[in-house]
Amino acid sequence: MAAAPIAELGFLEETEAWRLVSSQFPSKCGGRPAWLGEAGVPGPTEIQCGVCGKPLVFLLQVYAPCPGSFHRTIFIFCCRDAKCHGAGENRCFKVFRNQLPRRNDTYSYNPPPENAPPDGATCPSFQLKCGTRLCRVCGCLGPQKCSRCHNVNYCSKEHQLMDWKVQHKNVCSEHFDPSSIVLADHKILFPEYEIITEPEELESDSASLEEDNEAGGEKDISVLEETFNGATLNEKELEAMARHESKEDAVFNNFKKRIAAEPEQILRYCKGGDPLWISAQNVPKQNDIPNCLCGAKRIFEFQVMPQLLNHLQVDSLTESIDWGTLAIFTCSDNCNAEKQYLIEFLWKQDVVDSAT
Ligand SMILES: [Zn+2]
Ligand SMILES: [Zn+2]
Ligand SMILES: [Zn+2]
Ligand SMILES: [Zn+2]
Repeated sequence: MAAAPIAELGFLEETEAWRLVSSQFPSKCGGRPAWLGEAGVPGPTEIQCGVCGKPLVFLLQVYAPCPGSFHRTIFIFCCRDAKCHGAGENRCFKVFRNQLPRRNDTYSYNPPPENAPPDGATCPSFQLKCGTRLCRVCGCLGPQKCSRCHNVNYCSKEHQLMDWKVQHKNVCSEHFDPSSIVLADHKILFPEYEIITEPEELESDSASLEEDNEAGGEKDISVLEETFNGATLNEKELEAMARHESKEDAVFNNFKKRIAAEPEQILRYCKGGDPLWISAQNVPKQNDIPNCLCGAKRIFEFQVMPQLLNHLQVDSLTESIDWGTLAIFTCSDNCNAEKQYLIEFLWKQDVVDSAT
């Protein structure tokens, strides 16, 4: 059996604002997107919930260069309305991939400075270097201007109205300088963190073998392997089934066991590997993952873990945004996403009640 690629685990860390700006090439969660390429930043019609039609908000981005793409970032957006997050529903998410060569018009050829910039800029900028204006609420492309002052931009009527009520009606004037006031909290962005990664350390094979022998799980495995040939069960899960656990329990227990060593992980990056499923139900088959627009197959790249929900302040007494895991599949050819943000695919797997 070929060794599976080692997963990089992602963790949240509080950090200074300057580390999360575009020129630092961050992986980050919450706040506003730190766009990579300035060309083709997606606009309101693209960053829209496929269920309710409202603008999506930024969830997270992962900086993941790969051979042939010096700079490469994957962005995920999601709907703020819990009602849109039904079981198995993925239209309330949008995923974009963008990349840039090392030599480009926006960023230095050299790595970004390790120190805070002298001006200590902490106020988010709502204008790209090329002059493109961003929405003052969500940080996405903002083609609409305040018609009175022409000084602030929005992605949509929805966000303009939101800003008007919370702040802009008090400051809107011809001479209004948007950088002169502290930005209002519109309460729709998720809390902002840096995402740092480290390789997953697996228990050594010999240790796990001993453990499994103690549990006496050797019988019947070949039979089960035949039965579930081609399914997503790994050896451990098959062994667990030989111990008369249900398939659902086996998958869920494997999930719990795997994350127990690093319970704070909010992301698992394992390009070309397999997602760690939380449930045996709603596992995508090959043809559930649509090909990239270029025609190439999409492969698994990383997954967002349910632990992230604990940090998003989405708990409510009635309904909240929820998922078991979000698996991101991207173009296996890593086709050219220069000067554009290409749509990639997200598969949502929910927690099955019986397993919890
Ligand atoms: Zn929605
Ligand atoms: Zn907006
Ligand atoms: Zn105005
Ligand atoms: Zn492609």
